[in-house]
Amino acid sequence: MLKLRPNCECCDKDLPPDSAEARICSFECTFCSSCAETVLHGACPNCGGELVARPRRPASKLEKYPASTERVLKPAGCTPAD
Ligand SMILES: [Zn+2]
Ligand SMILES: [Zn+2]
Repeated sequence: MLKLRPNCECCDKDLPPDSAEARICSFECTFCSSCAETVLHGACPNCGGELVARPRRPASKLEKYPASTERVLKPAGCTPAD
């Protein structure tokens, strides 16, 4: 099950589980669409994998399967993967 992390790792923008802006890699490194496109150019800076739109979990399922509240943030900000 996806963790649905609550924020962008680069800029700390809130990304609620119903956000259409969230992008993730296969390890669920999580970014906002703006960082994913303009800074990272579609590649995860941690693993080099592709970033894709995170599926939204229906609100009716969030009660039983809540989103993660653990914020993950890169203190130094993001630079594109090599
Ligand atoms: Zn961001
Ligand atoms: Zn990654």
